[in-house]
Amino acid sequence: MRKGSLYIKGTAVALLMAVTACGKTDVHPQAMNGQEIPAEPVSDSGKAPYLEIWGAYSSALPTEKETAEIFVEPVNGLSQDFIRGMDISSLIAEEESGVVYYDEDGNARDLFEILADAGINYIRVRIWNHPYDADGNGYGGGNCDVEKAVQLGRRAAEHGMKLLVDFHYSDFWADPNKQYAPTEWARKDVAEKAALIDEFTYQSLKTIYEGGANIGMVQIGNEINNGMCGVYDDDDKMSLLASASGAVRRFSIETSSDIKIAIHYTQVDDAAGTMKKAEQLKSHDVDYDVFGISYYPYWHGTMENMRDVLKDIRTHYGVETCVLETAYLSTDEDGDNFGNSVAAEEALTGYPADSQGQAKMIRDIMSYAGEAGALGVFYWEGAWVPVGSDYDSNKAIWEEHGSGWASSYASGYDPQDAGKYFGGSSWDNQAMFDFSGKALPSLNVFKWVYHGTDAPLQPLAYEEVYIESGIGETIELPEEIGVSYNDPSVSGTMKVEWSEEELAAIDVDTGNLYTVTGTLENGAEVTATVKVMNVNYLSDPGFDETDPSVWQVEDRGAGDTTDIQKKAADALSDEYAFHFYSTEAIDFDVYQSVTVPADGMYTACANVQGGDMGPDQKVCVFVKNGDEEFVSEPVALDGWRSWKKITLPDLSMKAGDEIIVGISVQGAAKGWGTIDDVELYK
Ligand code: CA
Repeated sequence: MRKGSLYIKGTAVALLMAVTACGKTDVHPQAMNGQEIPAEPVSDSGKAPYLEIWGAYSSALPTEKETAEIFVEPVNGLSQDFIRGMDISSLIAEEESGVVYYDEDGNARDLFEILADAGINYIRVRIWNHPYDADGNGYGGGNCDVEKAVQLGRRAAEHGMKLLVDFHYSDFWADPNKQYAPTEWARKDVAEKAALIDEFTYQSLKTIYEGGANIGMVQIGNEINNGMCGVYDDDDKMSLLASASGAVRRFSIETSSDIKIAIHYTQVDDAAGTMKKAEQLKSHDVDYDVFGISYYPYWHGTMENMRDVLKDIRTHYGVETCVLETAYLSTDEDGDNFGNSVAAEEALTGYPADSQGQAKMIRDIMSYAGEAGALGVFYWEGAWVPVGSDYDSNKAIWEEHGSGWASSYASGYDPQDAGKYFGGSSWDNQAMFDFSGKALPSLNVFKWVYHGTDAPLQPLAYEEVYIESGIGETIELPEEIGVSYNDPSVSGTMKVEWSEEELAAIDVDTGNLYTVTGTLENGAEVTATVKVMNVNYLSDPGFDETDPSVWQVEDRGAGDTTDIQKKAADALSDEYAFHFYSTEAIDFDVYQSVTVPADGMYTACANVQGGDMGPDQKVCVFVKNGDEEFVSEPVALDGWRSWKKITLPDLSMKAGDEIIVGISVQGAAKGWGTIDDVELYK
């Protein structure tokens, strides 16, 4: 699911629930978004000079449905305290790069005001220990050090928002693929790292707090599925978490701050694996409050699964949960000539890559998170927009201010990724602002989610047409297709005119795949997929029959190499495929006998995927007809689900010929793979 090197995200933050104040004192007169602001923070020194700024700017949530350009369906029963958070860690680098933010009316304003007016009540910031090279040049990605968190934390508090502090315990991005320790800590052992984490966490929080922030949650580590701070052993990782957690708890108690401790994982699509993470925290007695996840809908499975996992964790482990990162596309464009992590092709059905689609996706994630009883949802880097007008000007600005995902100066610290692919924003198509910095209507989803909007009806998705047709049959495409709308209570159909030219170009006598373009009555274009099916003369071509005995196997290897496997991910069609694996060298044929039905030219083919077959692997389709044997060119298997279609054409055969069609596989010990959808057609 990683988008290779462009996947940079990182971080986590979290939300928190508003409210409770740190002291036991009065309630601040200005309440924002349902948050009560404490009258006075109590620091360990007994002084509380910062509270007067908290909530200086406030903005109320709507009390009824509003009229808008985009439709938002209300989420019933969503708590006013629900965290509607945004990570804006790159903001200061963006501002230093000259970015100006505009509200929907085109007025230049402070980003925090725009966010507050849109219903955002929580801000997340990531912290890298020292994102600078020896000459003081920033690594990029916002150059997010403690000093930047101080500024962002204070501004958040002024706008009535709590702060989630996201420690990466690294000098740069930490995620499942990398968890480099800060350079200064690189040679320390686990016990030393634990002590350094304690001190760094405590001191950083103190600095941010004294800068005026209303710290509500602290995330100790970022997407730590596979490691943390250069430590990859699970027990060692747990000891680092214990140390970080202890520092946060100590600081929280000393300042009467009621700070929640969040631990952050990703890959919630692996439900069992995610439950194991929670179990591990429990078995190691790690003291924490919030089990947080990243949930990106194009990478991390269904929302139902996300909801169910969070609900299970909350129920079984008695902790709060939170979606610490999410995002979705607002456009299919790239605004800064630096490739984006997620392309428009990855947009989900029913969620187009535009402001309406983005708002609907975020609304739905909030709805599912609410159903799970989660504290809330943080949108990741929703204001990370392009900084310049063309690539050359962008590049200079990214290098100077760190507003791209990585600068060239990060090459020494992260040579494999930043060193090769440094550059701009891979996230500008997931911002909630357009490329000029103007707020998109979708930004308001955070406040509209309570009472919804009235908006012009707009189609969101069209039925996907897929037709299978036998040889010689007439292709019939539907005259109308189904349409879904931004208002889900409306559905309907539209008339479609299919391209006569493309229809006429379909050769109904030969198996092949075609697409036909259609134009709807509203002018939108759709496509139909038409598959002209060969008549396949093989029995059980996909290994799907309960009785697979039509297939015979000759295993020349030492082990028990083959079986019929039920596993959709390893099958090309349906769930079953012919599977092979052996600890010994692999050498087998799988084949069946067929009587040729008519004189003519035939083709045999099969689909195979697999790997670890060694340099001398040989995978072929063969046909034996009496004394004649025909063998295809061999293919090399090169990875999971990298399907190879092997074709053996131009077989001249006569009616009544008794032939054998098969696949021959030879490879190294520990090779593996599956065979599916074998064909013999005329
Ligand atoms: Ca970009």
